[in-house]
Amino acid sequence: MELRDLLDSRIRDVPDWPKPGVVFKDISPMLADPEAFAALVDALAEQCSAAGVDKVVGIEARGFILAAPVAYRAGAGFVPVRKQGKLPCATYAQSYDLEYGSATLEVHQDAFAPGERVLVIDDVLATGGTVAATIDLVRRTGAEVAGVSVLLELGFLPGRAKLAGLLPDESVRSF
Ligand code: 5GP
Repeated sequence: MELRDLLDSRIRDVPDWPKPGVVFKDISPMLADPEAFAALVDALAEQCSAAGVDKVVGIEARGFILAAPVAYRAGAGFVPVRKQGKLPCATYAQSYDLEYGSATLEVHQDAFAPGERVLVIDDVLATGGTVAATIDLVRRTGAEVAGVSVLLELGFLPGRAKLAGLLPDESVRSF
């Protein structure tokens, strides 16, 4: 089975969650399937190695689940981008609009050495606000965003268009 079909068969639609009218893509069955999870991590690690990155960023919380094994597999470091108030040392903070409200993300100011190349990983690209804020945070540290990889793009939302002014289109990858 093609990777995309395998992943799609393990992602379920949850109607009216977290609020009426929203269909949430739940990746729990994919994470619980050893074949699908391993295939996804391997494919992401290949993207990571091809991009020649030093560090992999995972966005809290589902991005952590994907980015940590990818970093290990690709021989890169892992850096968490976290919700406000969770990181203990000096941070940069960026507020952004979510599909369901607004939020603030933070990264440690010393998370990267200047000029390091970074791959940003999250589970779902929806409006693009979360990834755009993360790109901004990484750049403020002096590191370079080499690419963005997500498991799933919600094609009916303008996530990719929102990132268009920030990164070359071919640097934003899904499956
Ligand atoms: P955006 O900022 O692109 O609008 O939203 C993306 C963020 O919200 C990601 O961190 C993602 O985890 C979460 N998100 C939004 N919609 C969904 C969804 O349908 N399924 C999952 N798993 N995450 C979602």
